[in-house]
Amino acid sequence: MIPFTYTRASDAAGAIHAVSAGAKCLGGGTNLVDLMRENIEQPTMLVDVTGLSRVIDETRNGGLIIGSAATNTAIAENRLVRTRYPLLSRAIVAGASSQIRNMATMAGNIMQRTRCTYFYDDEGSRCNKRQPGQGCDAIEGFNRNHAILGASSACIATHPSDMCVALAALDAMVHLQGGSGARILALTELHRLPRERPDLETMLEPGELITAVELPPLPRDFRSTYRKVRDRASYAFALVSVAAAVRTEAGRVKEVRLALGGVAHKPWRARKAEQALQDGPATEAAFRAAAEVELADARPLKDNAFKIELAKRTMVAVLSELTRVVP
Ligand code: SF4
Repeated sequence: MIPFTYTRASDAAGAIHAVSAGAKCLGGGTNLVDLMRENIEQPTMLVDVTGLSRVIDETRNGGLIIGSAATNTAIAENRLVRTRYPLLSRAIVAGASSQIRNMATMAGNIMQRTRCTYFYDDEGSRCNKRQPGQGCDAIEGFNRNHAILGASSACIATHPSDMCVALAALDAMVHLQGGSGARILALTELHRLPRERPDLETMLEPGELITAVELPPLPRDFRSTYRKVRDRASYAFALVSVAAAVRTEAGRVKEVRLALGGVAHKPWRARKAEQALQDGPATEAAFRAAAEVELADARPLKDNAFKIELAKRTMVAVLSELTRVVP
């Protein structure tokens, strides 16, 4: 690890000032500190942003605003989150141990980096994300956990967050602030696909940081959940995950929001499946047909073809659970 300076920001202006000068934001440190220990990230300046807003509060239109420094535990346990956005609470709980959730923050979770093992192996593996133009050893390597959607010939990594998959399904809006002012971006537009520059992971401008995440209201007649499929019951990233919110009337799908995790370089909003389901019957056959449409563009790698069928089955299982008529 190389020497670095450490400062604390008490507000967004102070954090922006530090970030504009080249500092890296430090939230709970649950990913960044690992990256620094492994020499993958070598910041010379850190600005601690855990003093920024931790508010979790209702907005005027009945949605929710969550400050960037709110911890994952605080969000998952919040009464409004648990009652109005249960899929978000479930996704966060599925994401990590309680110790990590106690430290990890909203913004840090969004900005965490891939867990591709070749990315972390700076001494033995080539990685275009770590060093653009170097090559990608995962493509011919062991790629069981890698992407099946939206990958490129430069990078096949997945985004590791569970929380972001729920946020994508919830149409979350990310509040950003930088030297040239504030703006709001849809969570689904924040992360990039890898294309030829996998080192560019988000749409954040230099000097910009996340100040809050806003959730639009989710009407009470929606049923929602988050399901994560992984190799073991805890401490594992998703092979595939599904976040879903659905509203039915008389056995037909009136509104549906779906997002997939563990399959792409970003949380994957399943808009083709949503379109296929809209106003159609809430039946297993229709769910399977929609999953087929969404996964039609999936491209399996040497070791992960199973993810395609797994994603389809998980989508069907989740939608069936949410639309089951409760006697
Ligand atoms: Fe690096 Fe992406 Fe290849 Fe992994 S998949 S080694 S992160 S370029």
